[in-house]
Amino acid sequence: MNSFDVVVVGAGAVGTSVAYHLTKKGFEVALVERGDIASGTSSHCDAVALICDKKPGIDTQMGYASIQVFKELAKEFSYDFEFHQPGSLYVCETDQEYEVAADYVKQQQADGYAMRMVDPYEMQEMEPYLAKDLVGGIWTEPDSSMSPYKLCFAFVEEAKKLGLKVFDHHTVQGIKLNEKGSVEGVITDRGTIKTKRVVNCGGPWARELGKMVGLDIPIFPRKGTILISEKTARVCNQKVHEFGYMLSKFEDINFKRNVSELVEKHNVAFNIEPTKADNFLLGGNREYKGFDINTEIEVMRAIAERGIRFFPIISEINMIRAYSGVRPYCEGHLPIVSEVEEIPGYFIAAGHEGDGISLSGITGRMVAQIMAGEETDFDISKLNFSRFKGQTFADDMAE
Ligand SMILES: Cc1cc2nc3c(=O)[nH]c(=O)nc-3n(C[C@H](O)[C@H](O)[C@H](O)COP(=O)(O)OP(=O)(O)OC[C@H]3O[C@@H](n4cnc5c(N)ncnc54)[C@H](O)[C@@H]3O)c2cc1C
Repeated sequence: MNSFDVVVVGAGAVGTSVAYHLTKKGFEVALVERGDIASGTSSHCDAVALICDKKPGIDTQMGYASIQVFKELAKEFSYDFEFHQPGSLYVCETDQEYEVAADYVKQQQADGYAMRMVDPYEMQEMEPYLAKDLVGGIWTEPDSSMSPYKLCFAFVEEAKKLGLKVFDHHTVQGIKLNEKGSVEGVITDRGTIKTKRVVNCGGPWARELGKMVGLDIPIFPRKGTILISEKTARVCNQKVHEFGYMLSKFEDINFKRNVSELVEKHNVAFNIEPTKADNFLLGGNREYKGFDINTEIEVMRAIAERGIRFFPIISEINMIRAYSGVRPYCEGHLPIVSEVEEIPGYFIAAGHEGDGISLSGITGRMVAQIMAGEETDFDISKLNFSRFKGQTFADDMAE
């Protein structure tokens, strides 16, 4: 095995984007993955890049910038990752939700984002199968979609043209530090790779990769499940989700939904997404259950129940498959994108929770900027690992 300028660990959407952007900047890069490309959460998820589900400020700024990166790459890459920009629709069930939504939209409009409130009539025109009793919603023009699986392969194949070396089926077992505590190499089950810089892109497993150098990285698996329908005539035209999704994502948003015990128990929030294969994905939920990705019948039932509430036609359509994945939840909701002060050469780009596909484009770009000593597109001091300095975290987030 050789020596590289940088070793990127983890070939999900984040790691492949980081590897691509670093290679493009002229670094000699090795991408190390213990399974196949995209075998982690990036192949067990939905496919959207949204700004509508981001908090105002840095969260939305990154989401928007990332969509611009995908737009450029979709033109540049010869590998098609199915990027398209249909927009998205948030729907409100109650007047209280509508008020919270309107307030949120006002803040986002003030920051210049193309979001607006829509009334029930316009919603029906956009989505004729939507339940008739909804009070309105938010339409967000820049929201986009793509194939997350193809996105990872697009980054890898395009980076390979520029010299990227891929070591798949290599498990990282340790990080070698020199006597000064700086990175010197990456130890895998198939040999050691010499390098002065490593990027931890381990997604939900970033915590384990941190422990290898004594770091307490507060990233934990947050499970979600998706149902997949049979092929059907078009049920929806874009990503449609309930505004209560914000509640399931950020526990601090202040309103309570009127939902069944089952839906509440599994923290289910309705979302539906059409695919290019003429079926749709129906989600989803958020729960802390460790790394278990078995699908559970009770959760599937709760997701179906919530789906039928918003699109009654779903009761007439067969669901043919389900899968679960674990989101890399990071304490405080923002990902970590920075070098670690106390270990020169150790970088982290992980913890994007339910936004790792969305934010992979801008994350890769920012890591390459940081490593090249350039100014990042915007101030990302809030993403620095140093925000957790002096804190310790328990391993178990399971409920
Ligand atoms: C149900 C569900 C729906 C979602 N929907 C969306 C969505 O619509 N939009 C969106 O933006 N996000 C969505 N997400 C979140 C998104 O999937 C994740 O944020 C994203 O996939 C994380 O990417 P990643 O590259 O950080 O992690 P991963 O894709 O998990 O990649 C990490 C990689 O590191 C590898 N690895 C770990 N340890 C080692 C080791 N020791 N040695 C070598 N390799 C190692 C793993 O094998 C893995 O391949 C969803 C998630 C779920 C579960």
